[in-house]
Amino acid sequence: MQDYIRKPEWLRTKIGVSRCGKVGRTLNEHGLNTVCEQADCPNQGECFRAGTATFMLLGQHCTRNCTFCKVTFAPPQPVDPNEPQEVALAIQEMGIQHAVITSVTRDDLPDGGAAHFAACVRAIREISPEVTVEVLIPDFQGDLDALCTVLAARPDILNHNVETVPALYAQVRPQADFERSLELLRRVKQYASGIYSKSGFMLGLGETPQQVSALLARLHEVGCDIVTMGQYLRPSIQHYPVQEYVHPDQFAAYKEEALALGIPCCVSGPLVRSSYHAKQDFDRLKGKA
Ligand code: SF4
Repeated sequence: MQDYIRKPEWLRTKIGVSRCGKVGRTLNEHGLNTVCEQADCPNQGECFRAGTATFMLLGQHCTRNCTFCKVTFAPPQPVDPNEPQEVALAIQEMGIQHAVITSVTRDDLPDGGAAHFAACVRAIREISPEVTVEVLIPDFQGDLDALCTVLAARPDILNHNVETVPALYAQVRPQADFERSLELLRRVKQYASGIYSKSGFMLGLGETPQQVSALLARLHEVGCDIVTMGQYLRPSIQHYPVQEYVHPDQFAAYKEEALALGIPCCVSGPLVRSSYHAKQDFDRLKGKA
């Protein structure tokens, strides 16, 4: 296993921003967390300057300890019943047109936080009915009732990231199960017509091109409408080491492969994250629909 590889030029990004700007101030006022900050997203400067962010519900502590992820693994924090309303107000104040909300994984909650997600979607709809809503959910430990709870709130997009190829789950997502995640995506299409499904994964963890092709085929098979691919970046020396910095041309080739398979929308590039330019992708998809 590779322990250290020098970062290539194409991964250099402009310096991030603090919470001093408009986005930061709004987040502070409403006491909200973002995955942009918690996961140290390389696009934070760009997204915050553009007036957007991805809200992270249910605290800052995750009940899982994935080896790729910077979000803190620690005892869960109390659920804030006001959070849905605060998220909705922040979205209105920020003028966000396409809201992306995610959460830490909360295996301690009986529904994994599904009702909280649903409450957020409803609160956003109530205040800003014109805003489209994308939820990026955890796997709810395969609880399909929890999935139905979220779908009943009618988000526009149900996103669940598979994160990597099945062969790397043991090293990268030891508490997750690839087939369980895939089943969740399959059920979105079965249970809720009119809701788009989306998934994404990282490259550079040691996957082979054959494994990526097979994964794209599986995502197509379960009817995924949008697939995102981005370069894995190691958050710290304690995290899983980068095995490869995948060249932008390879990202482009995978995108072609996904489109050729029949996946309607694929966004693939070193700095792509599942919420990166999410509005533009959704607009593109709807233009095709
Ligand atoms: S790409 Fe997504 S997670 Fe990263 S800064 Fe932008 S909105 Fe936040």
